[in-house]
Amino acid sequence: MMRFELQARFALSDDISELSSQFESFIAAMNDSILKKDAEKFAFIERFSIEKTTLSLFIISEGTLRPHNTLLQIKNALSKELGKTHRIGVRDITITTYRIFFDLPLKPLKQISIPFADLIIHDTQATMLLSDVSEEFLRKNYIDRMMNRVKEKVESQYYEGKAEFWKLIWKSEEKPTVWDKDPTEEMERLGWLKQGPTKGKWFYRPEATVILKTMETIAIQEVLSPLGFQEVIESHIKPFDIWLKTGHMEGMPYEFYYVTEPRTRDAKDWERFIDLTKITKEVPVEELKKNLSVPTAGLCYAQCPMIYWSFKGKTIAEKSLPVLIYDKTAISARYESGGRHGIERVDEFHRIEPVYIGTREQLLRLRDELLKRYKHVFNDIFDLEWQMAWVTPWYLQQAGKIGDEGSQDTGTIDFEAYMPYRGTRKESEWLEFQNLSVLGDKYITAFNIKAQKSKLWSGCSGIGLQRWAAVFLAQKGLNPKQWPEGFKKYLENLPPGIRFL
Ligand code: ATP
Ligand code: ZN
Ligand code: MG
Repeated sequence: MMRFELQARFALSDDISELSSQFESFIAAMNDSILKKDAEKFAFIERFSIEKTTLSLFIISEGTLRPHNTLLQIKNALSKELGKTHRIGVRDITITTYRIFFDLPLKPLKQISIPFADLIIHDTQATMLLSDVSEEFLRKNYIDRMMNRVKEKVESQYYEGKAEFWKLIWKSEEKPTVWDKDPTEEMERLGWLKQGPTKGKWFYRPEATVILKTMETIAIQEVLSPLGFQEVIESHIKPFDIWLKTGHMEGMPYEFYYVTEPRTRDAKDWERFIDLTKITKEVPVEELKKNLSVPTAGLCYAQCPMIYWSFKGKTIAEKSLPVLIYDKTAISARYESGGRHGIERVDEFHRIEPVYIGTREQLLRLRDELLKRYKHVFNDIFDLEWQMAWVTPWYLQQAGKIGDEGSQDTGTIDFEAYMPYRGTRKESEWLEFQNLSVLGDKYITAFNIKAQKSKLWSGCSGIGLQRWAAVFLAQKGLNPKQWPEGFKKYLENLPPGIRFL
């Protein structure tokens, strides 16, 4: 059941106290015309009152026509009626109260609140009470989004604690492992890596660097180049409007690193800041705050959003389909907080992200080809013990559609590897070291990307170089002599590095 009760006040240019009886018929006529479209789609004015220059209406609806969507029509009809007979105009409309009753899919487990309204919930019956609502607020469709958000918040209480949807697709055989140490700790001990200088960041000395660079070379030479992927370079700084379109802004605002610009580039405005810095030899944080703008962008979280943005509003020529491109320049930054560990869960990582845009058939074929090439890398070059599983992409999780197995045309495949230092194969958590998604037309629609004739889909794959390295080293150790032959073809000896006294 849905019911809307709206109390609106129309301010008029003159006193209408005398016109009370005329309004009876005017309102009856309105109830019969503009408000009553058909049996499902109707609202009606239940009562009205007049006080000098104010006309108050109480409009209710249990149909699909929302009272707030009728206000403009009522205003026009009213202007016409009063203007013609009495030369009285309608100045403005205020919604004094708006009460909305609607059903929830489930009974909330915890209390729920929503901005702009008081929310009362009994069982699965929600009441949203708004007061002093502006016309603009109604016009911008906030009401419907508020109702959806309340329902979404209830649903998310149910899947919060549940395990993510996960279904094994393929698993390699067990592989002998050479050790059970945490490679990050060992690399630090050997001086290949240095932690810091800030949280979740690393300084990679020559030995660690050459390993990451080798991972990059292998990904490009064994996977991307043979399939015809072309390289692009994107900006590292992502404005919020891109993340608004992809859904990242509402999806993970707590994981971004935000970017601020100086308020001015004028050295004069920074004089006090400079003085304080010179005198105290510390950063005057309070003074700094005054000189910074509010962030309007963040550091790269994933590369695909900006790649889609680069195609915004474009029509792609059929002969360029499928579009196969990748970025390996933008560095991903994520505030991982308590989850940080070694080089496998860091706040700053290097990723290659291939993005593909094409027809459904092209992308499903490409997925097969990518899988074949990835398998070749992980089996023949790295000789890994690993597996692939279908998982719920985060944007479906958002929507609460957990475990939706329907079709596997779209969705995400996670690649996971056994990490001997974490414990037994059965009991320890395997590490996701990359993923591969086909996402249907979600981003194509969001960025209004078109082809001459074809209907487009898109997808991406996140190749995390730190994760590739962590997985390989955890299974194969740090001694190049023990590395698999396939890998030795790419890296046989480590650079001498730097010795410290
Ligand atoms: P997780 O569940 O491990 O946090 P995610 O779902 O956030 O991963 P995606 O956003 O799907 O990861 O990113 C794709 C790839 O990026 C991952 O498979 C991994 O290779 C890499 N990646 C993501 N987060 C990190 C991180 N904090 N440190 C290193 N690599 C990462
Ligand atoms: Zn992506
Ligand atoms: Mg994550």
